[in-house]
Amino acid sequence: MAKIVVKFGGSNLRTMQDIEHVLTVIRRYDRPLVVVVSAFYGITNMLEEMLFKAQHDHTSIAENLEALIAKKRDTIFTMIRSRDIQNKTKEIVDVRIKALKRYLKGVNYIGEIPPFVSDIVMSFGERLSAAIMTALLQDRGVSCEELTPEDMQLITDGEFGNAEVDFSASAEPVRKRLAGAATAVVPGFYGVSKEGKVTLFGRGGSDYTAASIASCIGAESLDIWKDVDGFRTADPKLVSDTHGIHHLSYTEAAELAYFGAKILHPRTVEPLMNRRIPIRIFNIAKSDVADKPYTVISINGTQKEDIIKSVTYSDDFCILKLEGPGVGNKPGILAKVTREMEHKGINIKSVITSQTSINFLLGLKDLQPAFRAVSGLKLTAVKDIITEENLSVIAAVGEGLLEKHGIAVRMFGAVSERGINMEIISVGASQVAAYFIVKQSDRDAAVRAIHEEFFSKQKGK
Ligand code: ASP
Ligand code: MG
Repeated sequence: MAKIVVKFGGSNLRTMQDIEHVLTVIRRYDRPLVVVVSAFYGITNMLEEMLFKAQHDHTSIAENLEALIAKKRDTIFTMIRSRDIQNKTKEIVDVRIKALKRYLKGVNYIGEIPPFVSDIVMSFGERLSAAIMTALLQDRGVSCEELTPEDMQLITDGEFGNAEVDFSASAEPVRKRLAGAATAVVPGFYGVSKEGKVTLFGRGGSDYTAASIASCIGAESLDIWKDVDGFRTADPKLVSDTHGIHHLSYTEAAELAYFGAKILHPRTVEPLMNRRIPIRIFNIAKSDVADKPYTVISINGTQKEDIIKSVTYSDDFCILKLEGPGVGNKPGILAKVTREMEHKGINIKSVITSQTSINFLLGLKDLQPAFRAVSGLKLTAVKDIITEENLSVIAAVGEGLLEKHGIAVRMFGAVSERGINMEIISVGASQVAAYFIVKQSDRDAAVRAIHEEFFSKQKGK
């Protein structure tokens, strides 16, 4: 029987009551699992802060670590019932916190945070939560062991802060290591490079850990537990009458995550698509009612009559514009710029060109580095380099978007009817997504306009 990979995020691991609830959910599966855990709520942010402070302030290290130790001891001694397991867990946690302390001291000593140290330090949230969750499950009679990415050789491409799994190197060792009959508890968020260095998968990366492992072992399903419903027709913080979405295709889910839906890490879908492993998203707050997944993501695409399944947005987009009378058709420019950006580790989200302008859509953190990189190239055809911030990208997603006539027109029409100016529009880059860019101040109105067009009108509202 193939195992199920089950992932719990930081928001499921906030209070002791939450943790108890997670233990109940795991026990209710009543079969061996691979349980991937995030750090307990808030711990990753806390570690990030510790790192920055440690650079210049050595007294902060002991203070912060004491607070961390106190939290962990509280959980261990309040929640674990067996004395023996309490003491063993305290020892494991103490050893890990000691190692963390050494890295923080190193940062203080050199006054800098090298990327490899940043990745190791940030991984301690998961190292601590996995140890404690393993102990708690054992305490509650579940036969289980902790297996770290180091133990199972979850190998990455080695990029610090934003690594990808190297499946050809990982698949076999991971499958072998997880073949046993016991439940395995795995710290999420990181893998190890071929040289054995800890490399993070980016914030929220435990989803990707879980997806990668599910792919390596050919899991029956990847179950992601959240404390909110799964995918919805729009962000309920912006739109009052949203509906839940019970089924999405892989491509739809990937596009929604890419364009800002915070339900999944954007790369979660990738490893599962080829192997056709379904992703089931559960809301732990509703697990007592019925263990029915809220959203299921699988290969079977369904087409709605109105095509659009969800509208989403992200504020993490900005534009770097290269202007000049002939930039659009002058051959080498794009190649030179993209090569330089790749060299500087800048991720280009999209490129849109016209005769007089090349527009690079980038994440906010990449804007200034990209500006410097392009300026440094001194391209004669480029007369001006312009940066634009305070933008939002808004995307509507649905199978059939490109095939069904008039859908994109309806979407853009609904937005422009409200007098909102769309700076850039793109249809056709993806089979299932159309997107446009507006000023951030127009974002909410634009999302509402599309939601009303596709989800409220038909209901006679
Ligand atoms: N703990 C990490 C974060 O907060 C990874 C995760 O939660 O998935 O980003
Ligand atoms: Mg998370």
